Amino acid sequence: MSRSAHPAGPRHADVLPEGHYSAPPADLNALDPKVWAQTVTRDGEGVLTVGGIDVKRLAEEFGTPAYVLDESDFRARARAWRTAFGQDADVFYAGKAFLSRAVVRWLHEEGLNLDVCSGGELATALSAGMPVDRIAFHGNNKSPAEIERAVRAGVGRIVLDSFQEIARVAHIAQELGRRQRVQIRVTVGVEAHTHEFIATAHEDQKFGIPLAGGQAAEAVRRALQLDGLELIGIHSHIGSQIFDMSGFEVAAHRVVGLLKDIRDEHGVELPEIDLGGGLGIAYTSDDDPREPHEIAKALTEIVTRECESARLRTPRISVEPGRAIVGPTAFTLYEVGTIKPLDGLRTYVSVDGGMSDNIRTALYDAEYSVALVSRSSDAEPMLARVVGKHCESGDIVVKDAFLPADLAPGDLIAVPATGAYCRSMASNYNHVLRPPVVAVRDGEARVIVRRETEDDLLRLDVG
Ligand SMILES: *Cc1c(COP(=O)(O)O)cnc(C)c1O
Repeated sequence: MSRSAHPAGPRHADVLPEGHYSAPPADLNALDPKVWAQTVTRDGEGVLTVGGIDVKRLAEEFGTPAYVLDESDFRARARAWRTAFGQDADVFYAGKAFLSRAVVRWLHEEGLNLDVCSGGELATALSAGMPVDRIAFHGNNKSPAEIERAVRAGVGRIVLDSFQEIARVAHIAQELGRRQRVQIRVTVGVEAHTHEFIATAHEDQKFGIPLAGGQAAEAVRRALQLDGLELIGIHSHIGSQIFDMSGFEVAAHRVVGLLKDIRDEHGVELPEIDLGGGLGIAYTSDDDPREPHEIAKALTEIVTRECESARLRTPRISVEPGRAIVGPTAFTLYEVGTIKPLDGLRTYVSVDGGMSDNIRTALYDAEYSVALVSRSSDAEPMLARVVGKHCESGDIVVKDAFLPADLAPGDLIAVPATGAYCRSMASNYNHVLRPPVVAVRDGEARVIVRRETEDDLLRLDVG
């Protein structure tokens, strides 16, 4: 089992046997609502529609590959998180999953807060009018310029990740005559993966300050002494694509232990606890994610119970879902270019994108599903591997999936659950142009991030 927790996804290969795939589904035309955005369905002719628009029209108008995002689904999921946690908690959307100005406006309208972790993400948030006190600034190596900009702008909180940063933020805030609200990110020695977690993981990672050895307690001691800082709470983020709440249980127990030590040593009860993000979504029909209200109930109960037994006032909880909000709301629409059956092995299906628009399969051995979407088919299932057009044999989008055997060049296929960590991690490898993000809602489609052009590429290349 891997020890490396990835901010954007697990390494399934360490958990699942090599070559793992389910039996062919009974009906290749069926669209499992677990993995597809809410408004996705097939019309009378078998063409997939989303937000009332069929994918053939989307491909014609916007080209392929394209990320197609169901705006009503995004809003519904954001609202579900907000409602589930209620007025006594804060939901911060993790912008690194996917951030654009339209997304910032939706979040604002739905009453969510926003996590950013770079100057670029902060600029996007501010330019779209996110109230600055609802922004949290993360990262393990924020530059002094980024810190200054965040403090000047007045971000609601900065999450401190190292001893240097405690001093740096305090200094910058003081120079600016400010008192910056901060949390300290601690590593609690819990590491969560898809279906299990390790409660005694080594704190061998770049993020946070270890609870172990009294380091986090020392960080708190320093932060409390510095005039430029107002320490409002402790932050813990244990991993990603988590289904099992017991990792949070252990993490909360340990964070509350620290809060109790802080009370005993300094006579202060910190008012906030942030449990991070990392809640899982369904990439295939095998995944069974929980609903926001179940997660909210479980987390609230855990923190309340731990605080009661430590005789602490229950702090205000915040959570930071990224993937769980945006992940399921989008799919990537590709056109099939070539089909190469390898006898006795599988059939390679090449699409017009690849690792430049979805690096997660290559990076984390992530699993995805795929469907033929420009028509339905009664053909037999064939075991396929969906690959991209890049000069790299690891350029795989979907490792093992069943597609109908009559699949042909020109067909449109779609990979669901690509809303998170796909466009945000996209690259220009092979000078491929990054696809647009098209938002659909109530029969209307609009580009929220346009397709890159060769002019965009050449503009950066100043010769
Ligand atoms: C990545 C990250 C998140 C979001 O993780 P998801 O898996 O997208 O929910 C939240 N908080 C922090 C600190 C992160 O690094």
